[in-house]
Amino acid sequence: LGMGLGFWRSLRAPAWHGRGTSANFSQRVLKRCSSYSRGSVPELGGKRCPEIVAAFENAFLSKDPCQITEEDYQPLINLTQQSIPCGKFLFWSRSKKLAHRYTRQKKEFFTLEDTLLGRLADGLTWCGEKGSPEMNYQSCPHWKEDCAKNPVLVFWVLASRRFAENACGEVTVMLNGSQSNAFSRSSMFGSIEVRHLDPKKVHTLQAWVMQNPGGVSGDSCSGTTISDLKSIINGRNITFICHDVNSLEEICV
Ligand code: NAD
Repeated sequence: LGMGLGFWRSLRAPAWHGRGTSANFSQRVLKRCSSYSRGSVPELGGKRCPEIVAAFENAFLSKDPCQITEEDYQPLINLTQQSIPCGKFLFWSRSKKLAHRYTRQKKEFFTLEDTLLGRLADGLTWCGEKGSPEMNYQSCPHWKEDCAKNPVLVFWVLASRRFAENACGEVTVMLNGSQSNAFSRSSMFGSIEVRHLDPKKVHTLQAWVMQNPGGVSGDSCSGTTISDLKSIINGRNITFICHDVNSLEEICV
């Protein structure tokens, strides 16, 4: 009757409030994996990619998309171990595009999305369904409206925590000074990454508060959200330094 599988699935599958799985999810993850050649990680090069994609899919396929755990992602994590040099970790909050523009120029710096694990998933959505081997392309749980233990949020919480735990030396965070809250305790950076820096390995957190040229400044190193960040960092026995940055050129030297 012209009603494809998608129609019948939509009667059965719960309608979540978030976007469905990104089109061609597995092919895109495979392609990202194969073309990942950053730094010198030959052991992560092309040949293990089918295994990595399978580990990613197995983390969430056939499972209730509101009951995902960090253990589900353990095999994927194990296959994508990668060491980043001390002093080259770049965190960001509300400044993803600018941070990535920076690491494209300064190739020795790494954001989470410049690691293989982060690169595989950045910008994508994915979820499955209990009792079905398929991905749900119609909808996926939204973290606020449906549930927090969904495949995408569990992934980013875990990836962000591990990225922070691995950080060493002086670490840097790029913050958005055109917003009134350059730092927020409820962001992933404020709620996960800051709390998992290891003071035995990280001696300094440097903040770059990016000012947009000619625009109104919302926040800066002298603002209250940055003093909040400073007190959290100092309370963890890590030195805090802050620079207001007016253009990428200032930090690209
Ligand atoms: P941000 O506010 O710009 O948010 C980044 C993404 O996380 C957005 O998609 C946002 O909707 C989501 N998000 C933010 N707070 C959330 C929360 N409490 N619960 C669920 N989702 C939330 O910046 P941020 O929150 O500080 O996260 C950026 C930092 O965390 C980076 O340092 C990065 O290492 C890591 N991270 C990256 C991604 C990514 O999509 N590439 C996602 C999450 C976290």
